[in-house]
Amino acid sequence: MRIILRICAYNLQICAHGFNSVPAIFGNMGAWDIVKMAIVRRRLLANRIPDDSVYPLETWIAIKASMTAKSERELKMIIGKKAHDDIVRSDINEYQLFRLREQIRYVKENSPFYRERFKNLNADDIRTLDDIGKIPFTYPSDLAEAPMTFMAVSRTKTAREFTTTGTTGKRKSVGYTNNDLISKVDIIASALKGVGMSGNDVLHIMFPAVDAWDPSLMLAGACRVAGYGSSACSSSDIKEQADVIISSGSTHIIGLPSFIYRVTMLMSSEIDLRKLGIRKIISTSEPLSESMREKLQNAWGCSVLDVWGMTEFGLACAIECDVRDGLHTDEANLLYEVVDPDTGERVPDGTQGELVLTSLTAEATPLIRYRTRDIASMISPPCGCGSVFNRKLMKPSGRMDMQFKVGMGYKIYPVMFDEVLFSNGNVIDYRMTITKEGFRDVLTFEVESKDKSDEVRKNIVSLVSDIMEIKDGINDDLIDIPRVTFTDIGAMEYSAKAKKIVDARESFDV
Ligand SMILES: [Zn+2]
Repeated sequence: MRIILRICAYNLQICAHGFNSVPAIFGNMGAWDIVKMAIVRRRLLANRIPDDSVYPLETWIAIKASMTAKSERELKMIIGKKAHDDIVRSDINEYQLFRLREQIRYVKENSPFYRERFKNLNADDIRTLDDIGKIPFTYPSDLAEAPMTFMAVSRTKTAREFTTTGTTGKRKSVGYTNNDLISKVDIIASALKGVGMSGNDVLHIMFPAVDAWDPSLMLAGACRVAGYGSSACSSSDIKEQADVIISSGSTHIIGLPSFIYRVTMLMSSEIDLRKLGIRKIISTSEPLSESMREKLQNAWGCSVLDVWGMTEFGLACAIECDVRDGLHTDEANLLYEVVDPDTGERVPDGTQGELVLTSLTAEATPLIRYRTRDIASMISPPCGCGSVFNRKLMKPSGRMDMQFKVGMGYKIYPVMFDEVLFSNGNVIDYRMTITKEGFRDVLTFEVESKDKSDEVRKNIVSLVSDIMEIKDGINDDLIDIPRVTFTDIGAMEYSAKAKKIVDARESFDV
């Protein structure tokens, strides 16, 4: 039986292996000829990672720091001429400081926004990482209000522009130069090496295609220059997905977890997915709940790793290793800080707060001390995978601007409900609406389920009622017993960035 689901925007244009005639991997840049590809390949540091590297992503960062020290006198004076094997944490700190000062000089000269914002800031005043607090923050609202004032290059040098899908507020637009894109491809290629891709491996890319948001192109480009195969399919027609995976000889899958999950749930009743030989699944662009991870791992018989990123910083910013205790970060291109969201003071590694990111190498739209609105903490090295200096990001538990308050002001966010709803093997997707009846908050779940029995309904009500924040609210009589309605499979329109929680209350405490 073929099950075809409604999918928003269904027009992905890339297809298996190919690219021989792709007009542009990164946009309207004209045809990529063999010479250009050879140049990009030569510039990719990912291709210099030795095969015996313990953790390729960290080796890549060390190569980048060591090469910068060779070419930049200011850094060479501090850390000397070191082979990448000899790079230690303190060298990375110096590398990041050097890059940060360079980036400040660059934006003061080239970006109208920062020329104004940093008029009282001197790059040389930033002598240690503790001096970072002297640099003013950049807020998402700054970028949303006047994205063009951030641009540090002319539009003719902008190879590509990304626009955020805007879960809240105005859309934010970010540009990338050719060098920005190559740098992104480099980190993706080394991250893929880190998850074990090599030689003839093929990455199957599973995103539902959406406007102005095309990670598939970047991923396929990274595979191409790194020498891996790639296939892409945006269809949730299970036969079509299976055909592309099998015919391309895919060994790894990357994509949006809600989309992979949906396809997996529908495919697994017809095909033994374990026989398809997928060795690893990479989940990206959405929070991955542990219950969803477990279901995917059981269905495919392989581990599922999480990636975190933001459109403002080119999506691929951090990735899990096999230890799965935090995500390794791209410290060659980004500076990670965590601050107290109320005071803006930096907090030490291990303490949760708001993640603040600084681009260290960006050319088109550099963002300095950008308040991401994501909750996270940093983990100090080392890691059980063998990495010795790379700081890890503890998975954000929810976006601050996607939080809602219920009952006595308890914070709730979508991944909290993903965790419990997807632990029931029948649930394919859901939406939740918050309303108010009298003084009680009412949580109504519209659930797309394979089984619509009373047993499943009771199980969902019990799972949701057991979430601590909800349980307390029910005990205080400020939240009603959760309600569940079922929809047919396919009746709920799937959208990559659909809001899982809709707050329909007229007024509530914030
Ligand atoms: Zn690790």
